Amino acid sequence: MAEKIKIVISAKAELGEGPSWDTRQHLLYWVDINRHLVHIYDPKTSVDRTIDVGQEVGCVVPKKAGGLLCGLKNGIGTLDLESDECRILVDPEIHLPGNRFNDGKCDPAGRFWAGTMAPKVGAVKENRAGSLYCLFPDMTIRTMISDVTTSNGLAWSPDNRIMYYIDTGLPVVSAFDFDIESGDIANRRTVIDIDPSTGKPDGMTIDEEGMLWVAHFGGGRVTRWDPKDGRLLQTVEVPAPRVTSCAFGGHHLDELYITTARSGMPEDELKSHPKSGGLFKIKPGVRGRPEPEFNG
Ligand code: ZN
Repeated sequence: MAEKIKIVISAKAELGEGPSWDTRQHLLYWVDINRHLVHIYDPKTSVDRTIDVGQEVGCVVPKKAGGLLCGLKNGIGTLDLESDECRILVDPEIHLPGNRFNDGKCDPAGRFWAGTMAPKVGAVKENRAGSLYCLFPDMTIRTMISDVTTSNGLAWSPDNRIMYYIDTGLPVVSAFDFDIESGDIANRRTVIDIDPSTGKPDGMTIDEEGMLWVAHFGGGRVTRWDPKDGRLLQTVEVPAPRVTSCAFGGHHLDELYITTARSGMPEDELKSHPKSGGLFKIKPGVRGRPEPEFNG
């Protein structure tokens, strides 16, 4: 049975996002995109270290060779955790200076997948100028999906044959056939429909039973789904409406960490949901799968 949801850090993040558990060091990485912060939370000591990377940062994953790989405003870069130095490696969107990187994750072969989004300016609400990229360990980068509104959640099935993907511009979770050898994806289809009255699908993770966990931005919840039949299995209510992402962590991968945001919330909604921007966790009664690190 699921226990009650707890607030881990009352961070009041503007746009908390991108949680990623480091299975080697037992640390949780997460970001506050708008404040340019990478957070490194150690549950043993309850210390939450922050590093200002000097630009918007949408996601972080650990690198096999040490340090972190980040999806940033100006491309994909590395973060050295000794010097705190952040260095851009590659920028596939040098021609789209308004875009920034958003969510990202490594596939089971250790390639880094990260996508972009265009800024929402004035009356232009939806702009399909984003893409999903794959960075290979040899530093080649490929465009995998184009015409993306807001590139978000990514997950791979336990048998490594399916990649799940969320573009927040669409109220669905998509699936692709995934070739672990080449990294190729094919045959896009919808596997889960999200009722727009429950918010927009944002970040996502997968558990050891192959069920998907989806964060609902504007819906104050995380939901568990069976991607084989699109059935809703479980709902975890979060005391913050703007739920952005989730990731399994802890020594036994039995804790679900959940990030939230407070940016853009009207004053009265902030008053009624003062924990918005916090980092939460819950033991949902099932374990996650270890997140692969970047193989470089
Ligand atoms: Zn997101």
